[in-house]
Amino acid sequence: MSVFVLDRRKQPLMPCSEKRSRLLLGRGRALVVRAYPFTIRLKDRTGGIVQPVRIKIDPGSKTTGIAVVRESGQKQHVLALMELAHRGRQISKSLEQRRAFRRRRRSQLRYRAPRFLNRTKPRGWLAPSLQHRVDTTKSLVNRLRSLVPVESISQELVRFDTQKMENPEVSGVEYQQGTLLGYEVREYLLEKWGRECAYCTGKDTPLQIEHIDPKANGGSNRISNLTLACRPCNQEKGRQPLADFFASSKRLKNHQARLDRILKQCKKPLRDASAVNSTRWALYQTLRKTDLKVEVGTGGRTKFNRRRLNIPKTHALDAACVGEVEIVEGWNVPTLEIKATGRGSYQRTRLTRYGFPRGYLIRQKKVQGFQTGDMVRAVVPTGTKAGTWLGRVAVRKTGSFNIQTSSGAIQGISHRHCVLTQRADGYGYHIQPNQPKEEGDREHESR
Ligand SMILES: [Zn+2]
Repeated sequence: MSVFVLDRRKQPLMPCSEKRSRLLLGRGRALVVRAYPFTIRLKDRTGGIVQPVRIKIDPGSKTTGIAVVRESGQKQHVLALMELAHRGRQISKSLEQRRAFRRRRRSQLRYRAPRFLNRTKPRGWLAPSLQHRVDTTKSLVNRLRSLVPVESISQELVRFDTQKMENPEVSGVEYQQGTLLGYEVREYLLEKWGRECAYCTGKDTPLQIEHIDPKANGGSNRISNLTLACRPCNQEKGRQPLADFFASSKRLKNHQARLDRILKQCKKPLRDASAVNSTRWALYQTLRKTDLKVEVGTGGRTKFNRRRLNIPKTHALDAACVGEVEIVEGWNVPTLEIKATGRGSYQRTRLTRYGFPRGYLIRQKKVQGFQTGDMVRAVVPTGTKAGTWLGRVAVRKTGSFNIQTSSGAIQGISHRHCVLTQRADGYGYHIQPNQPKEEGDREHESR
């Protein structure tokens, strides 16, 4: 992983290698600015030549992958990989809880006329748990902009490109395995058929593209004649027409409703809108407001790039494959995992499920100079917890802290052994080691 470098005036320069940063720090020419992502500041440089750097984003519901790459023509060199874990679930949970407590409080006092139809939401409103995804991604982009000379952004916006398929329901698309169009078609079918086998509705199995009216009987290559089936179903159906297959198969004999659904679904064109999800769209609108160029890509192209370049699947590496790119270099580097944790809560009373007080938190935020959320390094010389622990600290008034390391929580570490590496900023950080090489060829499978 590269080290981010700032000049004397705190302006971003090109990132350097870890070795070079060690030399610079050792000779006293640089200072450490941040530990996560590791950033140094040169004491004796102002300005310098920079190359174009691009931030690539693959937004996900739980985790957003982010890759920082250096661009030269169609070649991209990975400088850093990051995965941002969102906390949407915790947000919606605490809002639900707040609502329940309020309900209880207010309903006990006196009668209140029900009020629920007098609230309007502004246009483009997103639920707080979804808005949080947009906000945290935006703030990470802003932070990266202060650390590297970013010129452009790539974001995966849609699952597939209907424009590229040019009204696939009508024209007979001669899709081909392994081509960009093939991947777009596959993503389209996955969306249309709900990511399951159309015949047995099996989920989480590899799905194959299947001709409803068999090719051997003159069935066309039109997308309206294609569906997705698991391997057993596909083989069992063979060259039978759909109705015959349902009549002859033991497993599907009594599933007339499913047959009707398939016949209805295959005629229905999937609208473009269903391929864009509202959170991704909101993120795109937000990124467009920065003065950077924003390129958008499709899920089909991401997968096409990843398979073609033989890169394993992680959120961060998916991000590196977003958009138009010929070659991706240097991708086998550790990933920085960033977990949105929040900054604690104002509420000092812990409540039971029913809203009764259960216990109280301390009012002071700092204990022995540390606060919950600080990243620390603890070297414990003796005892059962002897060793070096790196992670996010949770402070206790006794001075005996808990540390959240990448391999789990370690309890009861004395503040005397802890050294601060970075102040709490609402995120927890871990460095995940290099990725293993891609296993086997899964060209014909969809997941
Ligand atoms: Zn099946």
